[in-house]
Amino acid sequence: MRKHESLRESEGLVPAIPAAGAIVCPDCGNHCRLYEGNIGYCNLRVAKEGKVEHRFGRKAVVSWYFDPLPTNCVADWVCPVTKRDPAFHYSRRLNNLAVFYGSCNSDCLFCQNTSYREMMARGSPLMTAEELASVANDRTACVCYFGGDPACNPEHSLETSRLLYQSRRVKVCYETNGNISTKWLGPIADIVKESGGTLKFDLKAVTPQIYKGLTGVSNKAVLANFEKLAKIGRERESEFLVVSILLVPGYIGISELRVLAQFIASQDPTIPTAMLGFSPHHAMSDLPRTSRAHAETAKTVAIEAGLTNVRIGNVGLLSSANYTYE
Ligand code: SF4
Ligand code: SF4
Ligand code: SF4
Repeated sequence: MRKHESLRESEGLVPAIPAAGAIVCPDCGNHCRLYEGNIGYCNLRVAKEGKVEHRFGRKAVVSWYFDPLPTNCVADWVCPVTKRDPAFHYSRRLNNLAVFYGSCNSDCLFCQNTSYREMMARGSPLMTAEELASVANDRTACVCYFGGDPACNPEHSLETSRLLYQSRRVKVCYETNGNISTKWLGPIADIVKESGGTLKFDLKAVTPQIYKGLTGVSNKAVLANFEKLAKIGRERESEFLVVSILLVPGYIGISELRVLAQFIASQDPTIPTAMLGFSPHHAMSDLPRTSRAHAETAKTVAIEAGLTNVRIGNVGLLSSANYTYE
């Protein structure tokens, strides 16, 4: 926790989840407790006249780009766009609108997208949902929110999604840490399901101490949300919930992986689960890349735990490093 706090402080971010004030933010599982004038952990909200307000009104800190399809999406092997009729889609050179939010409500020490932190500290660039939705064109097949994380931008991402789905039938996908407020989880699940998109859930750990050490925050809301989404997904026609697990050497070894796989299987053993190789980044640049032996053992253990659709997501990243991964 000291590492999380010192890093954030040096970058001009709120060092720790505010926990002592009387004004409670209901917008994500962190439930920041703010004093008047305090800014929340995501840098997006402020306590004003006894209430929690968005610092930038209807605008979010966000950037975007087009990714030609097929993209190297974490759900590509079950993706409704790339699976349904690839020949048709590729011939029309469809694109994915990749939406990069410049804020996050986690603080992963291994984060590979740390540019969100500068955006979060700066509070720019800013866009309304209308401005963001207007960049889509007639080749836009899907939108994917990531960043940073859409978990602390539920209203903005939902408004953008509704505009994109209503006007262009764009499929809506979220790539998230799952630390979403219960009040936003349902509407997000609804638009993803209705549009035929996928919810890519980055499940970092089940054991609370490991999760908190890696991310700086609690996984209480994360696990509860996963259970709710798995339940919604059980009646799915196409894939709805897709899990990714990052195999961080020394942290997500086989014993934690077994707990993770059992947790997923207890909800629905058919949920597609991708094991991802870790590469050194941010405050964990001293660790090795995930070894092939670690990834392959993880896959075997996940299958033994009952999962029926498991894959290693980024084989090219795996190393021959020699370390203990029990
Ligand atoms: S959205 Fe989450 S991180 Fe941001 S202020 Fe609210 S509770 Fe805190
Ligand atoms: S963002 Fe969604 S629809 Fe687009 S490629 Fe990824 S899983 Fe498929
Ligand atoms: S949830 Fe994702 S974007 Fe946020 S800190 Fe963790 S890895 Fe980075």
